[in-house]
Amino acid sequence: MSAEGAAAPRPTEDLTDRYDVIVIGGGPAGLSAGLNLVRARRRVLILDSNRPRHSATLVSHGFLTRDGVSPLELRALGREEFAAYPTAEFHQGLVESLEPAPAVSGFVVNARGVRGSADRVVTAPVVVLANGLTETLPALPSMRAYYGTSLHSCIECDLFEKSWAPLALIGTTSDLAERALLVSQVTDDLIVFTHGSEAITPAEEAALAAREIAVERRPIADLVGDRSGLTGVALEDGTVVARTGGFVRPLWSVPLGYASGLHLEVDGEGYVVVDARGATSVPGVFAAGDITPPGPQQLVVAAGAGARAAAAVTRHLLGAL
Ligand SMILES: Cc1cc2nc3c(=O)[nH]c(=O)nc-3n(C[C@H](O)[C@H](O)[C@H](O)COP(=O)(O)OP(=O)(O)OC[C@H]3O[C@@H](n4cnc5c(N)ncnc54)[C@H](O)[C@@H]3O)c2cc1C
Repeated sequence: MSAEGAAAPRPTEDLTDRYDVIVIGGGPAGLSAGLNLVRARRRVLILDSNRPRHSATLVSHGFLTRDGVSPLELRALGREEFAAYPTAEFHQGLVESLEPAPAVSGFVVNARGVRGSADRVVTAPVVVLANGLTETLPALPSMRAYYGTSLHSCIECDLFEKSWAPLALIGTTSDLAERALLVSQVTDDLIVFTHGSEAITPAEEAALAAREIAVERRPIADLVGDRSGLTGVALEDGTVVARTGGFVRPLWSVPLGYASGLHLEVDGEGYVVVDARGATSVPGVFAAGDITPPGPQQLVVAAGAGARAAAAVTRHLLGAL
């Protein structure tokens, strides 16, 4: 039965699918939380819709011992390690609702099966949210052709490979000048494209100019390139600015519609507020990874946050937190 359109789930005694912990999201944060929890012999279900944020790229960097690994391989390794434990279960499903269920002293989760998997209705006293971010890229016709190869979003992850090239930084948000400084660590030929926005203030433009970083304010029409990758940024007035790669600042949002009934505390940008242990404002609900207030958005940071949340969950289950 599809959970779509179904009446709100009622915790009844039919709900036999009970776990110690349900983890929503099977990226590095969720897998790491899951691994550490099954190692504490907890019965753990990871529900994952299998849409990793970094699927646009073939290579990921900066994960100690796995620098240069394909993101898919990293996830496959993580799933394998998790699934090797007797109390681990991984299920492909898109969580559509997460609600408190006092009758079962915890939460009830509805997931719609993806890729042929069954729908699930499951309960647990503890839930870990690790469902990552959704990103919106500037609406340029050829953006997808270059994103993850010539253009990246994570400066910490992909700066090294861009060294000494003529680079573009494209964005419309107020952190663009700071990001320009970060990119300028590896090149002396950087142009910041504000795409017709006011993302860079006149004072910031002057500060960037002092470091020989140019600001281009005209709107972009598209990206141009050939089989080797990006070759330029085409402006709406027909000018093509030669560039071979760079960075784009997507708009990020935290997809938490499924948890709206919990009224979780979020910050001004919608990130889930957690304490130093990964506990949210709702007792029994923990969060880890990119959906929590931004540190660097990196695989190893997300995995670390997952492990930290798992440590807090084990204490919570023992009544110690
Ligand atoms: C193009 C690109 C390249 C990157 N390159 C690097 C790199 O080289 N090095 C690096 O360290 N970092 C890199 N990153 C950043 C890195 O991918 C993220 O920081 C990391 O994946 C965050 O992990 P996470 O577990 O929080 O979320 P994610 O990895 O996004 O995983 C979240 C998971 O939750 C699932 N999900 C979402 N909603 C639901 C739901 N309702 N129900 C069930 N499941 C759900 C998704 O399908 C997904 O599998 C890159 C990011 C991008 C976009």
